[in-house]
Amino acid sequence: MAKLNENFFKLKKNYLFIEIAKRIKAYSETNPEKAKRLIRMGIGDVTLPLAPAVVEAMQKACAEMGVKETFRGYEDSGAGYDFLKEAISKYYKGFGADVSADEIRISDGAKSDCGNIIDIFGSGNIVLVTDPAYPVYVDSNIMNGNEVIFANSTEENGFAAMPDKNVKADLIYLCSPNNPTGSAYTYAQLKEWVDYATANNAVIIYDAAYEAFITEDDVPRSIFCVEGAKKCAIEICSLSKTAGFTGTRCGYTVIPNELVQKDSAGQDVRLADIWARRQGSKFNGVSYPVQRGAEAVFSAEGQKQCRENIAYYQENARIIASACDELGIKYTGGVNSPYIWLKCPNGMDSWAFFDKLLSEIQVVGTPGAGFGKNGGNWFRLTAFSTHELTKEAMERLKGLLK
Ligand SMILES: *Cc1c(COP(=O)(O)O)cnc(C)c1O
Repeated sequence: MAKLNENFFKLKKNYLFIEIAKRIKAYSETNPEKAKRLIRMGIGDVTLPLAPAVVEAMQKACAEMGVKETFRGYEDSGAGYDFLKEAISKYYKGFGADVSADEIRISDGAKSDCGNIIDIFGSGNIVLVTDPAYPVYVDSNIMNGNEVIFANSTEENGFAAMPDKNVKADLIYLCSPNNPTGSAYTYAQLKEWVDYATANNAVIIYDAAYEAFITEDDVPRSIFCVEGAKKCAIEICSLSKTAGFTGTRCGYTVIPNELVQKDSAGQDVRLADIWARRQGSKFNGVSYPVQRGAEAVFSAEGQKQCRENIAYYQENARIIASACDELGIKYTGGVNSPYIWLKCPNGMDSWAFFDKLLSEIQVVGTPGAGFGKNGGNWFRLTAFSTHELTKEAMERLKGLLK
């Protein structure tokens, strides 16, 4: 009989988006007319199309694949083509992080690497995750049988959890700018985490999926902008939000050559070597046309076009933030991220606030409770809609709460 990985039974039900869909359906069935005005501000997916430079590069690469002389099969290493790794290395240099091409591995996105990276660590580690958080960090550790402890992101600390010297962790997940709270660590805050990890010989797994949304000068675009990080951190990034690659699939993970831990015999081991071995056994790389499309993201033209899309979303974030300002609603985010994380009025529970917005103004957001216990009275609105719908939703919100 095949035994099962019963850690899966310990996972919380994937309840959030199923429950949201269920409530929208129930509402739409009983209120078909009103349901026609639904505005969805809950989605965490981009809506603008790929940049023309990206599409053109992918089309050209597809054409190459159809010609004997330029056809490509398996990539040698599966770690990504040099042309793309060089382009990413140069991109890092542009914001002051020294990352060489051989420290980068191309992936099919950040979600898989965030989950799979655990394979290189043994059992018995204490894993620290901020609460609230992107669910992948907790779920993938539970699947592997790891214990997870939490660092609280709360209103008091601006939803930017900081290290506690009395807590000893071996692995630390940080996401900045953060999904769902939109908050982002400054250089000084991130330095505290790097110092904590260094003191504890811990490894930080840093999810930088929203780095392209950063606007403030004191917020680093990469953890490797912080001194000491190359000895304690792994950075996982993605083109999903940067360049609208959610359906195209491409990301990258940086494991610095300097990042070593001791094995049980006391020998220094480079984490990049174990990850390379893991990926070499279980992953055969990202398709050539997608890597060419990704390369185009980092070209001058691609950057200009992608920045325009990001600016479009940032304007939506500004519209939401200014409505919250007008209403006196507390919130984090919006400045360095496409998310506004707002406090439900009058101490309302996040699901009750969800129901109120759905039934009274037909606006759909995401209840904070779905991201962890500290989200119980908070609510996420996303900037991935159109200007028109975002404005309309905010007018309705003002009408409801003023
Ligand atoms: C969207 C998102 C990602 C990107 O995941 P992909 O697999 O690259 O699409 C990673 N981390 C967070 C926190 C996200 O919200």
